[in-house]
Amino acid sequence: MQLSNLKTPCFILDSDKLVSNVLEFKRALNSRFSNHCIGYSIKTNSLPYMLHMLNELGCYAEVVSYTEYALALQVGFEKSHIVYNGPAKDKETFLDAIKNGAYVNIDTKREIEWLNDLNKQHSYKVGIRVNLNLGKISPEDAKEGESDSRFGFSFENGELEEAINKIQLCKNVKLGGLHLHRTSLTRSLNVYRNICKYAIRIINSLGLELDYIDVGGGYFGDKPNAPTYKEYVDTIYSSLLEEGIDVSKMKVIVEPGNAIVASPFSFLSEIIDTKKIGDSQIIVTDGSRNDVDPFFLKKDYFKSFIRKQEEKVFIDSQMVVGCSCLEYDKLFTLQNQPLLNVGDRILYQNVGAYTMTLSPLFIRFFPRVYLKTLNGYEIIREEWTVNDLKQ
Ligand SMILES: *Cc1c(COP(=O)(O)O)cnc(C)c1O
Repeated sequence: MQLSNLKTPCFILDSDKLVSNVLEFKRALNSRFSNHCIGYSIKTNSLPYMLHMLNELGCYAEVVSYTEYALALQVGFEKSHIVYNGPAKDKETFLDAIKNGAYVNIDTKREIEWLNDLNKQHSYKVGIRVNLNLGKISPEDAKEGESDSRFGFSFENGELEEAINKIQLCKNVKLGGLHLHRTSLTRSLNVYRNICKYAIRIINSLGLELDYIDVGGGYFGDKPNAPTYKEYVDTIYSSLLEEGIDVSKMKVIVEPGNAIVASPFSFLSEIIDTKKIGDSQIIVTDGSRNDVDPFFLKKDYFKSFIRKQEEKVFIDSQMVVGCSCLEYDKLFTLQNQPLLNVGDRILYQNVGAYTMTLSPLFIRFFPRVYLKTLNGYEIIREEWTVNDLKQ
């Protein structure tokens, strides 16, 4: 199958790109740490076919709910290759994960109570999530209005220490690790330097002896002029070293989502109508902004046009809109470009992160997904139908 045969609207997963992103991140980690893993953040894009590939490539699954835990198992991740985070765990999967050697990072007080249900004859390990107030520890990197965080336990007000003490009251449970995750405004190296420093301050202050440190996600991928995987890893390494931590004794976990899956995905849509309303040229596509920008925040996209025929007529302004019935389903305005015609196609690139998992089942269900390989294209998920919905 060739690009021109693909049925629109559809996502396209570039297999080579996914593989090279993972291998490059791994190479960076290998160059610095003897014990490490990539816990891929499933919520960023949970396409099962892709999760299967990531498992084969040796990634762990980072899950934040009992549903994602079940999904990770279903696609073949071993329980010991799961990093289980967030407040949406349930008791059953929480205990199952701990018993089977997953990295479980406690995020709520109820989880500490659940530890009492573990078999007293065995010993277990858990981690705990540290609350990160970026406004305090890395102010220049914080999003406005989101500098504080509602996740994890606060070191400043003593709740972290209290939680750790409670965990240690369970004689059969050891605190094995600290979990520190923030997706910052800047995704800069500075964020990770400050997060590592903060972690070490806590480790020293509370006298912790840990098996792992989980520095979370929030990295850029292969974006031009952004830090590389290698630079992130080198920064984490040198920040830990500077503070006198013996990195050979600890496992370092990273939890990239965006950095791995944004660039391998594109979205292809086709122009189904063109019309004029007043003086405005409207270009109607079979995609929707829900597909490529469910937060409705993007100003523009990495995009290219596939035209059926060369078009000589230039138009001052063309407004490209989606097919949904939302007045605000407008994608972008094209200035001073050749007229777009019915049958022309638009390819949006770098749209793998926080798109497919956040698209609503609104008006039209989930679109098809094709896999792009050296041999062409093949379908890996059919378009969702009424049957998929009505179960
Ligand atoms: C969302 C999330 C990630 C991934 O964040 P990205 O910005 O996509 O890299 C990692 N860890 C946790 C705990 C998360 O909630």
